Amino acid sequence: MLTRQFTFYVFGRFIVLSFYQFISPSRIDKILVLCYHIIIIEKEPIMPSKAVKKKAYTSQKAAREKAAMAVDILKDLYPAAVCALEWCGEGYRTTTHESPTRDEGYVPSPELLKESWKLLVMGRLSAQCTDARVNIVCKELFEKFPTVESMAEGDILDIEAIVRPCGLYHTKAQNIKDACNILVKEYGGIVPCDMDALLSLPGVGRKIANLLMGDVYRVPGVVADTHCIRICGRLGFYPEDVKDPTKVEIIMSGFIEPREQSDFCHRIVQFGRDVCMARSPACEGCPMREICKHHKSPK
Ligand code: SF4
Repeated sequence: MLTRQFTFYVFGRFIVLSFYQFISPSRIDKILVLCYHIIIIEKEPIMPSKAVKKKAYTSQKAAREKAAMAVDILKDLYPAAVCALEWCGEGYRTTTHESPTRDEGYVPSPELLKESWKLLVMGRLSAQCTDARVNIVCKELFEKFPTVESMAEGDILDIEAIVRPCGLYHTKAQNIKDACNILVKEYGGIVPCDMDALLSLPGVGRKIANLLMGDVYRVPGVVADTHCIRICGRLGFYPEDVKDPTKVEIIMSGFIEPREQSDFCHRIVQFGRDVCMARSPACEGCPMREICKHHKSPK
């Protein structure tokens, strides 16, 4: 930027001085600064002008409205916001959606807290593995290790043998054992409601942390998994080539109402399996097509 300013200034001064030698140098400077602002800065604003700010505000508002429409469409399609990982049985899965958020007074039951470590384990196993496979594997895993303490003390070879079908089983088994150990020693066997504490657990990234905070404590958060990243990109909330989960989490957190975020992410996983599949989205007949940029853009 400085180089461009300097070049503009030197050339401008030279040209103006050659033709208009009667103008004082200080006046030339003022004229050049003015020209620079009109010709360059207005074209590519460094500090957003009022018009640019208004445009940004309008597009943010439009994105929030579109997100609200997507939330409603998914609610109609999937009234129950079901976590694809079956960590706590049918009872939990059919009673927690639409419950108040933590700020609105939600308090998880002691039974739910006692089981919360299972969601952590399943979240870790789901990396590069399907939720369906994790559900199958975890039936055996939780039968053998029914409590967080038993998992923390479990033989690593036994854990590895069971979680092997989920892939990356050495790392995953070690992460699970270590994380359960920390839960037992530092948090009374219960998943903490603290983003930094969760992120310090082995194998826990923002995706799992948001899932835990949302499902266990009803703390709003966007779980930017592969379905969420793909579909929100197709809908046009950001360019489709954006694949970074943290970026998607930040963008979508600004557009989706906080209290809807966790359930939206559960529903979008179902939608990604049933309608907006990775390879061949079923656009014809899709209830989102009116608001979908991917569908509207020329093929
Ligand atoms: S219209 Fe097609 S691309 Fe858009 S959300 Fe529906 S299935 Fe996905």
